[in-house]
Amino acid sequence: MRPRHVVAVVGTGTDVGKTWVSCALALAARRRGANVQVRKPVQSFALNAQGISGLDTDAVLLAAATGEELDAVCPAHRWYGQAMAPPMACDALELPSFTAADLLSELRWQGIADLGLVETAGGVRSPMTHDTDSAGFVRALAPNAVVLVADAGLGTINAVRSACDALDGLVFTILLNRYDPADDLHRRNREWLAVRDGLPVFVDLHDAALLGTAA
Ligand SMILES: [Mg+2]
Repeated sequence: MRPRHVVAVVGTGTDVGKTWVSCALALAARRRGANVQVRKPVQSFALNAQGISGLDTDAVLLAAATGEELDAVCPAHRWYGQAMAPPMACDALELPSFTAADLLSELRWQGIADLGLVETAGGVRSPMTHDTDSAGFVRALAPNAVVLVADAGLGTINAVRSACDALDGLVFTILLNRYDPADDLHRRNREWLAVRDGLPVFVDLHDAALLGTAA
């Protein structure tokens, strides 16, 4: 059982806006009447002073965007309360290690959704499991499309090109998040990537082609 269209959301790094983009994509598809499910196979996060997580973990935000149960978005045993890459957080907490196959076997889709969004962890080369990074996890997931979220500002050409190397062989599009058309550097970054490098660069997450669908 799998959604008709599975889209992996990956990033050039941590904090580029994968969760924000995933939530916005989910909300936009729901507004079009699509049945959307979103998955965060594993998450790690900083604990607050009381030793409990804030209400702003990725799974909480994603569940709010689709109205799904938290446990369906990210199983409770895949929450690692340590601000490190998930397998490192797992080791620091002295919990059993896990593989990409473990996370894939735990993906539970309810019925056949129109769209399934899967948010990875960190950047494409960040460790996501004990046996692979986020790019490797996406290869194992074999989604219909991959959206690479990147920043629009300084440093993004290097970050996007490096991420493209890691995603070699996968069909992906690139979203320059936080793109400001009034910003000269943003405009030049977009043009360099799209024209010189010939990459599929988008700046509008409402563009259906971003998800690898016609309309
Ligand atoms: Mg996130």
